[in-house]
This record gives sequence, C-alpha cells and structure tokens, in this order.
Amino acid sequence: MTPTVIEPGSVLGVLGGGQLGALFTRAAAKHGYRVVVWDPDRDAPAHRLAAHSFTTPFTDRETVTRFASTVSAVTYEWENVPAELCEQLERQRPVRPSGGVLRSIQNRLVQKRFLAGHGFPVPRFAPLTDPNDLPDLVREVGCPVICKTAMAGYDGKGQWRIDEPSAVPPLVPSVQASALPGMQWIVEACVPFERELSILAARGVDGEVIVFPLVENEHEQGILRTTLAPALLPSGVAERAETLARGVIECMDGVGLFCLELFLLPDAVVLINEVAPRPHNSGHYTLDACSLSQFEQQVRAVCGLPPEPVRLLSPAAMVNLIGKDIETIKQDAECQRLLGLPGAYLHDYGKRETRPRRKMGHVTFLAEDRNIARERAEQFHRRLLDAIGHPDGL
Ligand code: ATP
Ligand code: MG
Repeated sequence: MTPTVIEPGSVLGVLGGGQLGALFTRAAAKHGYRVVVWDPDRDAPAHRLAAHSFTTPFTDRETVTRFASTVSAVTYEWENVPAELCEQLERQRPVRPSGGVLRSIQNRLVQKRFLAGHGFPVPRFAPLTDPNDLPDLVREVGCPVICKTAMAGYDGKGQWRIDEPSAVPPLVPSVQASALPGMQWIVEACVPFERELSILAARGVDGEVIVFPLVENEHEQGILRTTLAPALLPSGVAERAETLARGVIECMDGVGLFCLELFLLPDAVVLINEVAPRPHNSGHYTLDACSLSQFEQQVRAVCGLPPEPVRLLSPAAMVNLIGKDIETIKQDAECQRLLGLPGAYLHDYGKRETRPRRKMGHVTFLAEDRNIARERAEQFHRRLLDAIGHPDGL
C-alpha cells in the first residue's frame, strides 16, 4: 500500500522551539506547510515563526488533544522531549521518528546497548546506577574515561572526564548531586580520536535512505565549534561512515532525518559516538551549501515523501556563535570584514537572552576551494577567541 503523503497546505507539529525547531519551521514554510510549535519556553525562537504556538508543559493533557487535532504529523527538534508524549500523539497522528525510536535513542545507555547489541562499533562502556560504584567501574573500563548522565545531557553537560583513578573520589559527590530519581549514568572509555566526524541520513516511510556528505567537526569545551564539509579522509572512511549511517537507521526502522556522530581513530577505525534522531548542528552547512537542507529532508520524511538525493554545491566551513560571540561580531572590524566576503552567511537565531555556552547563531563560509573556506572560518574563529580571551570564556 502506498503511504499517505501529507500535502502542502497542511499543518505540521514540532515539539521543541529552539533553533532547530525554528529552522524546521522555515523549511516547512518554504515547501508550503504551516507549523504548530509546542515548547513550554515562551521565549523559544520558533514561536515567532509558528502558525500557532502552545507554551503549556509537555504533560498538559488538554494540549495533547488540541495539538493532535490541529496537526497532520508530528516531529521533534531534540531527543529530550518526553517519549510518552510522542507515544500518546502517535495514537492519533504519525510521529516521525516514532516514539519507539526516540526511546531507543534518548537514554545514552539504552542507545549504546542497542548499537553494541546489533554489532555497531562503539567505545567500551559500562552502566552506573550508584555513584559509589564509580571507582570500581573506572577500573573496569580503564582510564581515561568519561562519565555521562544517561538522560538529558547536551553540549557536554552532565559529563565528567576522569584521567586517573585517584581523581574519582572527589568527583563522586558532584555525580551524586546530578542524580534525578531513577537516574543512571554511563561510564565510557575515552577514545584517542584523530578527528570527530558526522554524517546525516534521511529515511522515508518506504525505507529509502539518502546520506549527506561526511563532515569534520571540532569541539571547544564540549560544544561543537566548527564543521568542515566535505571531510577529506583516507579512502574507505566515507564509505564506512555511510554504511554505518544506513545500517543504524535501517536497524532502528527509523523514519526521519538522523545524524551519526563518529570518532575516527588511528588505522581508519570508525566508532559511533551517538545518534541523534533529528537535524544536527554539524548539518547547518546544508542550509547554504546543499541542494536541499537537512531541515527540508526532515520535512519530506515527516510528510511521507521519499528523501531526495542531495548535492553539495560548494565546500563549506561553519563556525558556531556561542554566548557573547553574537555581540563580538557586531563590534569587531575583522569579523565584519570576513562576514562581508562573498560566500559568508550569518544566521542569527534571534534568542532574546545571551547566556554563556548558549548557541546564539552560526556563520557558514562557502568557497570553491575547501582550503579557502576553511581559512576564512579559522580566521573568524580566532577573532572570536581573541575577543573572549580564552576558550574557557565561552
Ligand atoms: P552534543 O550535544 O554536542 O552532541 P553531548 O552532550 O551529547 O554533546 P557527547 O557527544 O557524548 O555529548 O560528548 C561531547 C563531546 O565530548 C564529544 O563530541 C567529544 O568531543 C567528547 N567525547 C564524548 N565521549 C567521548 C569518548 N568516549 N571519547 C572521547 N571523547 C569523547
Ligand atoms: Mg554529541
């Protein structure tokens, strides 16, 4: 049976109204759809673009009914929306990716077990249910390790890097303090990666998959800072990444737009760091550099349309604007010069409040020569670092 296609003119629902929800809303509007945004944060940027907004808590039963009756299909902008809510909505409307897929992803431990259990390569890991067991687990996994909260972490929040066993006892109280009822943690071997990579893949209801080019990422203080597209790596790495991306979303039977974060180790070994069931910060270059952006593919998947093959129209280098960077770029003459070059695209998320470590926008530099795009991004990045003094100043 051919799946039902949701036609332009229809209303789509998105849970979460941050920049990813806002960029989804724009992409949907470009293709003739209207979007209803549900985010309890009244200041969330997507509310200003929405055809209609809900700002009630995600537990509000009346809004569940109203939201479901207003939209033809539902998606979400990040994995920390309640899976139960997706499952409730799913009884009435397609939710893509499904609540079941969200459940197998949103808890880091469940996700790693799923991946390892299906033979996908991940760093060594062990579950932690009582922070008092941390010393034993650190010994078991082997230093250096990273201890991460199993749920609700992002941008490196809720993570502790442990380089030697003697560092563990002083950390136990802060790990303990992060505990919510029923909270678990995952203790992961800290792998000696040469590079961090990521790859986006979209899968339609008919099972067809397309992948975007593999890209290289650099992080600062646990937050993504730069992305370079395409990644130029030894032969076989891009194919390996693509095979993993296809394999993982097929194995999950996922419908939607996904991103795999990867570690490239010596000898071209590729491990999966994590899977996101949604557009990803490292895919923002697609807005300016691809024939179809990651958000447009998300719209297609949500509407039951097959994914469209993607062309990279130009090499690209993206730099995130974090915290006060958004003010620096307005005052700094060198930033202004770089932003004025042809091929520089500024995206300001319009967040009302600037906070440390908050993603406020990004800039993409396009150039025919990948090295030129990269150099411009590096110059721009250096200016931002000079202005804040040190990466810790984020
Ligand atoms: P984001 O929101 O940026 O995806 P996150 O909070 O979900 O971050 P992770 O992706 O697990 O957290 O970790 C953030 C960064 O910390 C990684 O991109 C990587 O730089 C580093 N990191 C995490 N796990 C490991 C590991 N096992 N070995 C080495 N580095 C790691
Ligand atoms: Mg990550």
